[in-house]
Amino acid sequence: MEQKMFCFQCEQTAGCKGCTGNSGVCGKQAGIAEMQDQLTGKLIGLARTIDGNEHLISHAANQVVREGLFATITNVNFDKEALSALLRRVDEVKRQIVPLCYECTSACGKNDDYDMEHLWTAGEDIRSLKSLILFGIRGMAAYAYHAAVLGYTDPEIDHFFYKALFAVGMEDWGMDELLPIVLEVGAVNLKCMELLDKANTETYGNPVPTEVSLTVEKGPFIVISGHDLFDLKQLLEQTKDKGINIYTHGEMLPAHGYPELKKHPHLKGNFGTAWQNQQKEFASIPAPVLFTTNCLMPPKTSYADRVFTTEAVAYPGLAHIGRVDKLSPATPNMV
Ligand code: SF4
Repeated sequence: MEQKMFCFQCEQTAGCKGCTGNSGVCGKQAGIAEMQDQLTGKLIGLARTIDGNEHLISHAANQVVREGLFATITNVNFDKEALSALLRRVDEVKRQIVPLCYECTSACGKNDDYDMEHLWTAGEDIRSLKSLILFGIRGMAAYAYHAAVLGYTDPEIDHFFYKALFAVGMEDWGMDELLPIVLEVGAVNLKCMELLDKANTETYGNPVPTEVSLTVEKGPFIVISGHDLFDLKQLLEQTKDKGINIYTHGEMLPAHGYPELKKHPHLKGNFGTAWQNQQKEFASIPAPVLFTTNCLMPPKTSYADRVFTTEAVAYPGLAHIGRVDKLSPATPNMV
């Protein structure tokens, strides 16, 4: 393929066809697109290693599959170091499962990573079916990740990630094999949304209609964006009685409806308009902004020193706050 990058996974894509230059419309550089392709190819290699043998699936494997897929969603991870760490983690997990593969002098290739060029240059039907599967599980992985942080997992959902990744790597599969898996992505995704809803409502209560102020009050404040409710909960607890107000932004707006979050009086309201206006709106506030999930646009220098990322989100030069699971606060798991 002659172009520097190829990515057509989101509605922002150039000319409604694909981002193919030095960087995508979202700001993703060609080198980062290549690393995200490598990461996807490695996850497919991991799925090949599992090859339907569910007893080989470990907690570490599930974690890196969720995080690895989540990191390749649009507007999440633009950072070479963070992606390198994920690439190493996939290798470590695979090495634990098939250590002898790494010493074999006559490798059979059965567990090899997948070269994503094969997907992007496949015929349009196969490329489209496989892309539907891949983009579907990327989004699903974000939901599964948020649920897992709260201690909610479902083996059926986790096992499906391997099945879907395996399918994307199958060179000789056609419509008959791929279409049922496309439909299964939809069915499993509904289960995953149900799991996240259960995790959120059992942890934070059933959401209730809530009036949300759009006014920023006097005094210090922090803006939090994305849709990881556990990150918001931690921020609210850490700023309790400190005279610092918290404002949601973008996709964090629904958080105001959850009883266990809205009970904090310093959760004051929502700042800003649509997420794509952030580069203009964040420049004008004297406050830090925390990004918890997908919605990060390359920050302008006027406010970049006030932007923090956490979980799967990362951008070169921005301060990154490591992850702490709800169930294991003593063992931070740095992305
Ligand atoms: S994720 Fe970025 S690079 Fe990919 S299609 Fe969307 S705008 Fe283009």
